[in-house]
Parts: sequence; C-alpha cells; structure tokens
Amino acid sequence: MFGNKCPNCNKGKIFEKGLLHFSFSFPKMHENCSKCGTKFEKEPGFFFGAMFVSYALGVAEALMTYFICMPFFEETFDLRIIPIIGVVILSLTLVNIKLSRIIWIYMFKEYSM
Ligand SMILES: [Zn+2]
Repeated sequence: MFGNKCPNCNKGKIFEKGLLHFSFSFPKMHENCSKCGTKFEKEPGFFFGAMFVSYALGVAEALMTYFICMPFFEETFDLRIIPIIGVVILSLTLVNIKLSRIIWIYMFKEYSM
C-alpha cells in the first residue's frame, strides 16, 4: 500500500517519483495506471477528501514527535518543542501529500470494482 503502486494491478506507479523523493514542486501524479489503465482520479475533486487524510497524518506526526521529544525536556510541556514539531511537519509535508492520496485511492478501491 505504501509502495506508490496502482491499487488494481500493483505494478503501475501512482506518482512519477517515489514516496520519499524530495522536490520543491507539487508531486506529479499519473492520471492513469501505465500498466492496466486504472484511472486514479475517479472524478473531478476526488482528492479533496485526501486533504483530510493529510491533516490527520500531520496531527499524528505532531503527536509522535511530541512523545519522542518529551523525555529530553524537563518540563512536561516545554515550549521549545513547538519549533521541532514545526520542522518535522514541514519536512514531511510532501510525503503527506503523496501518502494521503495513495491512502485515499486505496480507501475507495473497493467501490470502483
Ligand atoms: Zn494498474
């Protein structure tokens, strides 16, 4: 599921570049699977809902960062933890965009068959 692969045939790529490929532009996505022709964007605005997945991922990552960093601070809620969370979220944003769309595609896979 997290391999950037087509939900139908498991061979074609969803994004041109892999999940961890870093670039400053918005990740390019294939419209159709190059192997089986499955359309990834089922309808215009299909990926609007993926924004909520992306948001949930961001919250989960912020909480994870918080719990990982917590033992290194003396106070339970140290304000210095906020910039660290910010940097982590920013660096994961592109991964989140791709991951959320892949999750979204797989969530609706069953209904398209
Ligand atoms: Zn395919």
